[in-house]
Parts: sequence; structure tokens; C-alpha cells
Amino acid sequence: MFTLEPVTIAIDGATARFPVRRIYCVGRNYADHAREMGADPDREFPFFFSKPASAVVASGAILPFPSRTDNLHHEIELVVAIGATGENVPAAEAGALIFGHAAGLDLTRRDLQAAAKAAGEPWDMAKGFDNSAPVGAIVQGPPPRSGRISLSVDGDTRQDADLDRLIWSVEEIIAGLSTWVALAPGDLIFTGTPSGVGPIRRGETVRGEIAGVPAVEVTFAT
Ligand code: MN
Repeated sequence: MFTLEPVTIAIDGATARFPVRRIYCVGRNYADHAREMGADPDREFPFFFSKPASAVVASGAILPFPSRTDNLHHEIELVVAIGATGENVPAAEAGALIFGHAAGLDLTRRDLQAAAKAAGEPWDMAKGFDNSAPVGAIVQGPPPRSGRISLSVDGDTRQDADLDRLIWSVEEIIAGLSTWVALAPGDLIFTGTPSGVGPIRRGETVRGEIAGVPAVEVTFAT
């Protein structure tokens, strides 16, 4: 038989690595991005979708261009790494579940997502494809509540916002998600992207940065 190598992420300043259990992502958690996607941020609660743990790829990777898309999009996101179990956790206690935080890219086959939305079909193939979740090294401790979150493509800034623009705080996201699933060590939560999402082309380098956090950078093969 075969053995499965666990998917792990580097921990900043440590030799130990963070094993990945599951990946959950929040949709529409910055008002300006919700608007650019045609939604009303005042009326719609954020929702969750998932990616397989195997979608994680380390910063610095050179990636094959994803199949079956003509519109691959970048989304820079604050990623929260969960280090304790919790179910139906009140927001006031959600901080106790946090192991650390990182910069991540929620890569999206936007054309497939649009088709899925139009057909009322699941987003899995638009969001959960191979290498769709690049993540930088994890910084231990709770994430900052403010600070620049930005993304560039070949050095050209495309997304530029502040973490204080999150509609739902990290604690509220953890609390909300924990009503749907029991959170456990190894779970990652991508907390949503600000406006400025757009296409990535073959050969381009995408770099996501969050103040005080190691960057996440990947390059797509030509
Ligand atoms: Mn996203």
C-alpha cells in the first residue's frame, strides 16, 4: 500500500511545521469586494466554502497554470490557523482556538465560478483545484486587527486595503464556522479578500503581503 505525506506549512521562526487538516474560506467579507462581485454587503451574510488540504502549496513555488480556465483570479487573504478544538464557540471565546496567522492566496477559476453561480451548481471545481491555496509561513498568535493587506502581479499592485475593513472579525468568523463544523487543530480559515481581484496570466508572479507577516509568492509556468 501507499502512505500519505501530511500537508504541512512552515511556522515562522520554528523548525516544527503546521499540519493541515481542512481548509475553509469565507466568501464576501470586505464590502468593496462584495460590491465588485455584484452583491450587497449590507444584506448578505458571509458564507463558507472549502478546499481540500492538498490544495496548499508553499510560498516560492513555481506552479503549472491550472487546467480548464481562461480566467484565473488572485485573492489575497488573511489566513487563520486553528490550534484547538471548538464547537458552537462564542465570539468572545474564539480567540482561544487561534494557533497563528498567515498570508494566503485563494486562487479562483473565475470563469468556472461564474458558470457555477449561473447554473446553481457547487463551486468545488472553481475553488478547490490543485495548488489553489498558496500559504506563506505561519506567525504564531492572533492576527493583527489592522494593517496593510496587498497583492501585486509582476510588481504591479492590484489589491491594496486594510485588515480593519473586514466585515466580520476573525473571532466572529470562527464563532460562525464553529456552528457548522467542529473546528480542530490543523484547520485553516481564509477570511476573505478585498477588492481588486483580477486575472493572472502564464509566466506571471503573484505576491501577497500582510503587514508583519511573511509574504506569499508564487510564479506560474509559461
Ligand atoms: Mn476568497
